[in-house]
Amino acid sequence: MAKQRIAAVIVAAGTGSRAGGELPKQYQLIGGRPVIWWTVKAFLDHPDITHVQVVTGDGHERLFAAATQGLAVPPPVIGGGTRQDSCRSGVEACAAHRPDLILIHDAARPFLSAELITDIIAALARHDGVVPGLAVADTMKFAPHGVIERTVDRSHLWVAQTPQGFRYDAIRRAHQRALDDDLHQFTDDAAVAEHAGLAVALIAGRLENRKLTTAEDISVADRQLMGHGLSDRPDIRMGQGIDFHQFEAGDSVILCGVAIPHTQKLKGHSDADAALHALTDALLGTLGEGDIGTHFPPSDPQWKGAASAVFLAKAMALITARNGIIANVDITILAEAPKVAPHIPAMKAFLGPLLHLTPDRIAIKATTTEKMGAIGRGQGIAAFATATVRLP
Ligand code: MG
Repeated sequence: MAKQRIAAVIVAAGTGSRAGGELPKQYQLIGGRPVIWWTVKAFLDHPDITHVQVVTGDGHERLFAAATQGLAVPPPVIGGGTRQDSCRSGVEACAAHRPDLILIHDAARPFLSAELITDIIAALARHDGVVPGLAVADTMKFAPHGVIERTVDRSHLWVAQTPQGFRYDAIRRAHQRALDDDLHQFTDDAAVAEHAGLAVALIAGRLENRKLTTAEDISVADRQLMGHGLSDRPDIRMGQGIDFHQFEAGDSVILCGVAIPHTQKLKGHSDADAALHALTDALLGTLGEGDIGTHFPPSDPQWKGAASAVFLAKAMALITARNGIIANVDITILAEAPKVAPHIPAMKAFLGPLLHLTPDRIAIKATTTEKMGAIGRGQGIAAFATATVRLP
């Protein structure tokens, strides 16, 4: 028998507002990678999956491209107004691949295992549709207004997970049927299949295959993956960096990539971002790879006025080349003026994606020197940074 063609659709069109943060949850970082990177990789790595199709939100194209850099995944299709509409777009986009089977999965479940994918594919030999489910272990209460009206018999209740697997032609027709009936609010594909009268079987889901919904879910997942990263990377390195820049005539200073209006600017060959220079030196320090001057000689005119993120990117490339990850960075800025503290959230938002770090792994602090010394007399700004990097 010819090998089955099995497509996977990953639905990532949600805005994920419950998780907080500025990014939709599927693009937030866990273990130094966006959530969706782990999800896409799980399907790409499975030997039976022959096609992977992602459905993204309108306007998320650049986020998606950045999040999946280096993964061999085809361009995404844009989702619709509801989850159901997005799934239908993904199912239709797979038609050219002529799949026998299709697995439809939430991007926000990055911990699905290869074993679960294999189980679903195996069960599709006997059923039109297969859904992984968890039996309800806790007592269930019906409380529509916050006060319990009754206890629900849990013996036949299951929590539905994804991926949900179907015979391709059957689920494609079921989605068309829902569309023809002008129904758009089904919250999973099994419900679409049920509406069309398909028999959908339940198999054992996995506790680890949970959906990341809240900011706490993201944080727990990050710690879990960082823990794995630690066991793979026992070589813990620490580095420090210090940088000073004088003021000269100007109208703003740049610190951690953020322009802060001021009566002067910082003098330097590049954009004079003392905080990024200190951080870059700290990261280079973890590798014993010299300092910024080693990699970007001030005598080289190409770095004149350069955005200092270029220097940071070089340090990141050296860490990535060693298969390292950053555990945390800690930056202290010394300045009499301007006031730095109000800009710290913007600085953390700037650094997070560059360092592949969640906000709790980035510390930025600001202090004055109580008018003592050159910094205290307002002659310039200094920055100190430490960084911890883990290497294999
Ligand atoms: Mg400097």
